[in-house]
Amino acid sequence: MPSGYKHGDTPAKAMVRGTISYLESQGLPVNKSAIFRHFDLSRSQGYAALNTSSTPKSDDPEWGETRGRPSKIAESDLQKMEQILWDEKYEDVSLNWSGLAREAGLEMNCNRRTLHRAMGTLGYRRCLVCGRTHTHKRHREKRCDFARKALRTYPLKEDWRRIRFSGELHFGFGLDGRMRLAPRSGEKLCGGCEQEMGNVWPRDIRRLHAWAAVGYGFKSELVFYDPSTSPKGNGAMSMADYCDKVLDKVVKPWLTASGPLSFVLEEDADVFAHGSASKINLAQQWKDTHGLRCSFSCGESPDLSPLESLWPPNKQWTSDLLKDWEDDTLKQAAREAWAGLSQERVNMWVDAMPQRLQLVVELNGSMVSW
Ligand SMILES: [Zn+2]
Repeated sequence: MPSGYKHGDTPAKAMVRGTISYLESQGLPVNKSAIFRHFDLSRSQGYAALNTSSTPKSDDPEWGETRGRPSKIAESDLQKMEQILWDEKYEDVSLNWSGLAREAGLEMNCNRRTLHRAMGTLGYRRCLVCGRTHTHKRHREKRCDFARKALRTYPLKEDWRRIRFSGELHFGFGLDGRMRLAPRSGEKLCGGCEQEMGNVWPRDIRRLHAWAAVGYGFKSELVFYDPSTSPKGNGAMSMADYCDKVLDKVVKPWLTASGPLSFVLEEDADVFAHGSASKINLAQQWKDTHGLRCSFSCGESPDLSPLESLWPPNKQWTSDLLKDWEDDTLKQAAREAWAGLSQERVNMWVDAMPQRLQLVVELNGSMVSW
């Protein structure tokens, strides 16, 4: 089950929690009794709804929470490091985690994993509101290599029309019908945009995970799944589910319908980079057996994926469908958002792929805006 919602929960109880967590996140006064009354709950029902085991997990940096980060690092230290990652001065410096901590003047010793969890990637920053980007030196080199290779393999827009870009979409649901797509690990708000009212997403009351693929004249259905229970899961799909729910049930019929030469499945390098070796082999066996042609995305490059590029500003919007937070309602709202990704815009985006890669090379690997 997604965090924040349990069996036996009623929408009213989830709303009570959502309301209180929102008020707390904004530093506003919280009058619990008044909130319980508003949702027609008795005091005991109200307090039962607040029992801590069911409050949303807040220490998950993949979700771009700016509050409730792991307490091992002070918020002020995180901010100093974040500023460095946005600072032009450092764009040409190959910083690693300890270098970053040193530059920020941090005196504690934090291990790499803790910093990585708290900060997201070191490779790039892209502001979800104003579009400002920073791409760090080592990441720029990697992106240039990828772009040159991709242009050699697929020089023409017709080549890109055969690619089906695939990946996982993590939907978050907030108050008042608000929805968002979880940002990628370098997608944040820049200092200025973070100060503006309404840009910071307070908290997900519920989450929903789906796999999807899109390409020229092509759009899959959303394949909903329960996230892997592994500690590093972060909403990722388990390999068993990937083989069964995606490759076998969804991709196999495509192969049957149009033949293995008709398309190439692009997979998200970031998701697979975190998988164990055995995970990769299972899927690899399937691909070999069925003749599925695959390639990996560039990695940490949301500018090179239509699945990341074509959403509303700040990857947030309001859905009229969200009258409650029942499973079916959330799925319906996610399907509606997916339907809103117009095929025409996807087609234009795909056809611009050779130009976009050329631009990556010309800009020495910097992120390309769209
Ligand atoms: Zn900004």
